[in-house]
Amino acid sequence: MKWSWRLGRVAGIDIYLHATFLIIVAWVGMAQWMAEHSLAAALEGVLFLLAIFGCVVLHELGHALTARRYGIRTRDITLWPIGGVARLERFPELPRQELAVAIAGPLVNIAIAGLLWALLSALEGAPEVPEANLTNAPFLDQLLVVNLFLALFNLLPAFPMDGGRILRALLAIRRSHVRATEMAAQVGQGMALIFGLLGLFTNPFLVFIAFFVWIGARSEAAMAQMQAAFRGMPVSRAMITDFQVLGPRDPLARAVELTLAGTQMDFPVLEAQRLLGVLRQTDLLKGLSQQGPEAPSEGWMCRQLETVHPSDPLDQVAAAVQQAACRTVPVLQDGVLVGLLTPQNLGEFIQLESALRGATGG
Ligand code: ZN
Repeated sequence: MKWSWRLGRVAGIDIYLHATFLIIVAWVGMAQWMAEHSLAAALEGVLFLLAIFGCVVLHELGHALTARRYGIRTRDITLWPIGGVARLERFPELPRQELAVAIAGPLVNIAIAGLLWALLSALEGAPEVPEANLTNAPFLDQLLVVNLFLALFNLLPAFPMDGGRILRALLAIRRSHVRATEMAAQVGQGMALIFGLLGLFTNPFLVFIAFFVWIGARSEAAMAQMQAAFRGMPVSRAMITDFQVLGPRDPLARAVELTLAGTQMDFPVLEAQRLLGVLRQTDLLKGLSQQGPEAPSEGWMCRQLETVHPSDPLDQVAAAVQQAACRTVPVLQDGVLVGLLTPQNLGEFIQLESALRGATGG
């Protein structure tokens, strides 16, 4: 992902920090400095924030490692200012598994809070849990409260919070995945409205959260509908089979010619049948402006390829296509490029399919 730095690797999963996260670090440091006018206070504020984000990483690892038990890999974990996101390869289909994966995150925070409670009890007797004035409490007491807050906040029954997935999983035990998602999305949008209204009168941050919840609910419902439309279909039904390719030493001028001559935007780069990368339109534009039309394609192509097989189930690869680093997902059969999948062509495919279904009355 652009604008994010790799912090390290835990249990085989890369952890990234998004650049916007620094804004919140600076903001907390500034706020503490303004309030207390001491460097120690500013540093403590920043240190506390880093401790919180450590807990967020553990929360995301809770999801990722539970998913791994069901054979689902996690691409990476990225820390954003509003929290962490573990990008699972796919979400579990079985409601019971989705429930376990979703609830694992909040459970980690509850476990951390429990450990802190035990630690504080051992150190100084029963810990004083601060009520309203978080800022005056000692570091570990604050961290305990924050973990309880993280658990409760994530258990709110609204996408994209874990509670939304938990609700969907519970609803899906007796209903279809799509119907359960629609119902959970409606609950989420209802909550977004309440957050938004409350936020107008109390805390503007709530309006911000309401916005995310509203968008999250909509995209979740759209994704579920897409997956339902793709159910039971192989990749080969939707893939683009009529496309142009480039050689690694073809100049960017060749890609310009092909772009102008047709509608294809990204071009696979092949050397003697072997797929090396994909030259996206954004790569082409960047290459042209920095090195001119004679630069070879291989210097600018995207190499973080994710490929699929023609017989892979379309509903399971749809999410990966939406998030693919190279935008276009090559379809390989025995190492030979036979097709391409792009977010646009999946969108077209859905429209065509639903039009066809309308025509045949089913
Ligand atoms: Zn979570």
